Amino acid sequence: MRLHVGNAVGATPLVEITKLDIPDGIRVFAKLEFLNPGGSIKDRMVKYILDHAERVGALQPGATIVENTSGNTGAAIAMFAAERGYRAILTMPDKVSQEKQNVLRAMGAQTIVCPTAVRPDSPEHYVETARRLHREIPGSFMLNQYDNPLNAEAHFHTTGPEIWEALGGRITAFVSSGSTGGTISGIGGYLRSKNPDIHVVLLDPVGSIYHKYFHEGVVDPREIAAYHVEGVGEDHLAKCMDFSVLTNVIRFNDRNAIQMCHELARKEGLLCGGSSGANIWGCIEVAKALKPPAVIVTVLPDSGAKYVSKIYNADWLAEQRFADGSSATVSMRSPA
Ligand code: PMP
Repeated sequence: MRLHVGNAVGATPLVEITKLDIPDGIRVFAKLEFLNPGGSIKDRMVKYILDHAERVGALQPGATIVENTSGNTGAAIAMFAAERGYRAILTMPDKVSQEKQNVLRAMGAQTIVCPTAVRPDSPEHYVETARRLHREIPGSFMLNQYDNPLNAEAHFHTTGPEIWEALGGRITAFVSSGSTGGTISGIGGYLRSKNPDIHVVLLDPVGSIYHKYFHEGVVDPREIAAYHVEGVGEDHLAKCMDFSVLTNVIRFNDRNAIQMCHELARKEGLLCGGSSGANIWGCIEVAKALKPPAVIVTVLPDSGAKYVSKIYNADWLAEQRFADGSSATVSMRSPA
C-alpha cells in the first residue's frame, strides 16, 4: 500500500486533563483531533465520504468536488483533492477572513466568495451557489455534510471505537459541542450501542437552536444570534444531528469557551480552538453533576493556531464584549 497524507487520518492520541479544577474521583480525557493531517476532526468525515463515493462510482478520477464551507471541512476537502487529483471548488460568504481563503487556495482549491448579506434562498447565497455549481458541472460531487448520514457513520466506525478501546469501555459520559452533529451522533451512537447507560451531552452555544429544540421540541428563530466560537451551533436542524442519541443538551457562552481555551493553553499545554474550550468547560460542568468514580470523554476538534489573531490575541480580546458587558482581557495578562 502506498502511504499518502490521507492514511494519517485518525488513531489520534487520548490525553487526560489533570491540572484543571475537576472534582475528586472524576477523570476527564480529551482526544486530540487537531492532530489529524488537515488540522481537524473533519478529516475523518471527508475521508470516509470520499472513500465511499469512489467505491460506488459517484466520484470519478479528476472530477470536481463542490462544497459550501470555509472552515475545517474546506481544509480537509482541499487536502484530499490535492492528494487524490480532484478539483475542489469551495463557496463561502465574504465575511470569511482572507487568511482562511489563502489556506484553501494554497492547497489548490478554487474559492468562490459570495455576499454575506443575502437571504438564504437567494441564488447569490453561498450554499445556493454550491448547489448550482454541482448541478452545472458534469460529474461533480457534493459531500452535503449537514444531511449526509455518512458524516456520523465516519465517527461511528472510527472515532467511537478508538475511544471505547483506549478506555477499555470504562466511560460514563461523552460530552461535545456540535454543528452538523456528525461528531456527537456518531461517537455517542457507537458508545451507547456498547453501553446504553453512557450519558451523551451536547454543548450548544447561546445563539444556536439545538438547546431549545432538545428541551422544548421547537425551533425558535428568536434564539439565533451571533457568537464568537466557530464551527459549532446551528441556525437550522441538520439531519445529521441525531437527537435520539443525546441524553442532555447544555448551553455555553463565548466567555466559558474562551476562558477555558486560555486555561488549557497555560495549564495543560494544549493550544486549542474555541470549540475545544467549550468541550472541556462542558466536561467540568458534567463532572460536577456526576457521582465519582466517573470517566468523561471529549474531543478537541481543531488547533488554537487557527485563532491566534482572535482567541489568543490580547488586542482582539480587549475589543470584545461578552453578553454581560465585561471583556475577556483578564485571562490574557502576562504573568508578573
Ligand atoms: N468544532 C469545530 C472547530 C468545527 O469546525 C466543527 C465542525 N463544524 C465542530 C466542532 C463540530 O463538528 P460536527 O459538525 O461534527 O458537529
